[in-house]
Amino acid sequence: MIDILPIHTQRTAASRLESVDFAHIEFGKVFSDHMFAVDFINGEWQEPQIVPYGDMVVSPANSALHYGQAIFEGMKAYHQADGGVALFRPLDNWSRLNASAERMCMPEIPEELFMQGLKELIRLDTKWVPTAAGSSLYIRPFMFATDGFIGVRPSFNYRFMIFTCPVNTYYNKPLRVRFEQKYVRSAEGGAGYAKAAGNYGGAMYPSKLAHDQGYHNLIWTDATEHQYVEESGTMNIIFVMDGKVITPALSTSILDGITRRSVLALAHDMGLTVEERKVSSREVMEALAAGKLEEAFGVGTAATIAPIATIGYQDQDYDLPVAASNAFSHRVRAALDAIRAGEGADVHNWMVRV
Ligand SMILES: *Cc1c(COP(=O)(O)O)cnc(C)c1O
Repeated sequence: MIDILPIHTQRTAASRLESVDFAHIEFGKVFSDHMFAVDFINGEWQEPQIVPYGDMVVSPANSALHYGQAIFEGMKAYHQADGGVALFRPLDNWSRLNASAERMCMPEIPEELFMQGLKELIRLDTKWVPTAAGSSLYIRPFMFATDGFIGVRPSFNYRFMIFTCPVNTYYNKPLRVRFEQKYVRSAEGGAGYAKAAGNYGGAMYPSKLAHDQGYHNLIWTDATEHQYVEESGTMNIIFVMDGKVITPALSTSILDGITRRSVLALAHDMGLTVEERKVSSREVMEALAAGKLEEAFGVGTAATIAPIATIGYQDQDYDLPVAASNAFSHRVRAALDAIRAGEGADVHNWMVRV
């Protein structure tokens, strides 16, 4: 793509790069030098800018703060063996951000604005892309309403921004999760498929109750019968039962994860049977009891694959078998890592050079 937008860039006079200990970065706490920002005013996107990362001023009546018109994305850029940098499936994040925008009555972000903003920001902060195996640059695009008006209606004005954080390998300690059969994350017809800020806020209280009981995450179930599996925490969930890769089918209450999509595509490539359908808590627990539940894991950008070790169901904990070294979750993780590092054949053309 040729660069068609002029992005006004104000470089930092004091890079923080030298002060960062890349071997000991806590997820989400260290921010790269610059950020991208563009305002939507009077029905039009204004001149985009790259400026030093820093605080900004908002009106106390900012309508995103009051009514939650706020959406985001999470994606990563990876250091390549030849010294370059590549993004994993960025156009999927762009189209999902626009799907979230539509659901929240927010303006569409043009592809070139998203892609060019992303690429120029990462090129400018290219030294912030960590080089150690398994590390990456986490990228947070987001958009929020900016009207200073407390009437309830879609805002007229918005800001779209991107900032980035270097992150290390996410240590996948085996998870303790439990079925949640009282509270719900989202309902059919709601906004659960959108990456909307409010979905996270509403999930915190039930998640906190589970944390207090010693669980890392919940397995959310459907809002009507509280039986059918939706997602695990803020990740999609995949089971391997009886040799088949099984995951809840997408709906308006489930977020269409790009990691989920990628894992299912690789499962197809490996010749495995993939089923996207309803999965009940009872089916999972019966398979576990019968020794047919081989693996269960969360999938999402932050952790890639998060293996589940223990499932709580009706006040009892049940341990899953330990996945063998050639288990699907290990093989798919290795395949994804290789593609992202530019070491495995990228047959689906997922990687985009910065
Ligand atoms: C972001 C997110 C996911 C994972 O999506 P990825 O594109 O794989 O990172 C899953 N569930 C929820 C609720 C999410 O917000």
